[in-house]
Amino acid sequence: MKASEIRSKWLEFFAEKGHKIEPSAPLVPHNDPSLLWINAGMAPLKSYFDGREKPDNPRIANSQKCIRTNDIENVGKTRRHHTFFEMLGNFSIGDYFKEEVITWAWEFLTDKKWIGFDPERLSVTVYPEDEEAYNFWHKKIGLAENHIVKLEDNFWDIGEGPCGPCTEIFYDRGEVYGSDMSDPEMFPGGENERYLEVWNLVFTQFNHNKDGSYTPLPNKNIDTGAGLERLASILQDVDSNFDTDLFQPIIQQTASLTKVKYNDSVEQDVAFKVIADHVRTVAFAIADGVLPSNEGRGYVIRRLLRRAVRYGKVLGLDRPFLYTLTETVGNVMGVYYPEVVDKREFIEKVIKTEEERFHETLSDGLSILEEISNQAKEQGQTTISGSDAFKLYDTYGFPFDLTEDYATEHGLSVDREGFDNAMQEQRTRARAARQDGGSMQVQGGILSDLTIKSEFVGYNDCVTESKVIA
Ligand code: ATP
Ligand code: MG
Ligand code: MG
Ligand code: MG
Repeated sequence: MKASEIRSKWLEFFAEKGHKIEPSAPLVPHNDPSLLWINAGMAPLKSYFDGREKPDNPRIANSQKCIRTNDIENVGKTRRHHTFFEMLGNFSIGDYFKEEVITWAWEFLTDKKWIGFDPERLSVTVYPEDEEAYNFWHKKIGLAENHIVKLEDNFWDIGEGPCGPCTEIFYDRGEVYGSDMSDPEMFPGGENERYLEVWNLVFTQFNHNKDGSYTPLPNKNIDTGAGLERLASILQDVDSNFDTDLFQPIIQQTASLTKVKYNDSVEQDVAFKVIADHVRTVAFAIADGVLPSNEGRGYVIRRLLRRAVRYGKVLGLDRPFLYTLTETVGNVMGVYYPEVVDKREFIEKVIKTEEERFHETLSDGLSILEEISNQAKEQGQTTISGSDAFKLYDTYGFPFDLTEDYATEHGLSVDREGFDNAMQEQRTRARAARQDGGSMQVQGGILSDLTIKSEFVGYNDCVTESKVIA
């Protein structure tokens, strides 16, 4: 089943259940300073969830473009993470609750008319105290006890405000993805890829009060999110999201620019995957009005683009190439998201200019590095100082690991500790300068790992917090 068919089926299914189909909102949040990017299907619907606005229809479904930069380190390493992905969602604003949402999720996933998964392959996690959810799964749906795992983590709570338990649905990809059932990580909810998390159903039913107590909410909401790319990987019976029809055309197009083949070596495959991932993110962000720059969203885009360029080097791509993939991204995604097709020329121009600039940065950085290392050698030193490496990085945008590579090639080392200290000092200064943005007014378990401050965690080679926060 093609990814576009899965998307259509989702929308058709929930339309049949009385939902209003909302188009995907842009990636840049509207009127929401608490979020850098739309990172879940409910994010653009927040004003319905917290009661600021009332929807015409309390049942809503969508396929929402999302960016999650906190997953950047996972891209290409896991089979299931992207920085840009589509979240399929259905929502109830004070309308239906647990029984309906569980029943419909099961129907959609197992009925042959829709997705048609083998029910034996499905397991769920529930919050241990949520007997209601447990009973719906066990008694109403008939899911066996050993397919229901109680997990303390399944409660979405960000401090004061609406919160509640969730239940997540996992698909067993089979023993080839791991079989050691004595390992707790192997169970649904563990960080393994045998049990692939496909869908999260959040029941917003409590208010977390100022004094720390919880009281039931008068209006209970439902917020769900399922990953389109993950459903596609299962339905197309392929190894990872990157092997689906959403990514293969981009990867094959990249391969056609090089002498390297996809599926030949692990290291090069990571490069193919990172490039395919990042070009989608960059193209969609530009289509939604974000331009590469030195702060906020623009900086995120600049870093992603540069990261893709650097992975291009792993494939022997030493000239601007990323921009040429825009057309393929449009070919794949245009059926539902015409923006990348409509703005293709503009996107290409922005990416190309930025790629050219980065190549210049790299060559400027190299000449400065050459001077620094000659000087070091003349003075009989064997180390490039942390402050020099940091200056190269911070002022010239020259990545630390390239400084390290260069040093190694020239019989020198780099003072990593000194670099880290300089980075830390920079962060402390930035933090002090930053105004407190207040608490996130968000709900939905799918947002729990996504506070603004966690943007780009792990992107340690190239970011300072001050630059990432809008
Ligand atoms: P995981 O544990 O696999 O990182 P998650 O628990 O962080 O996923 P949720 O926040 O529950 O994910 O989001 C709802 C759904 O969106 C997930 O069940 C998954 O199908 C999809 N999803 C989440 N993050 C990503 C991502 N980075 N790339 C692709 N799909 C994602
Ligand atoms: Mg996650
Ligand atoms: Mg999870
Ligand atoms: Mg989840």
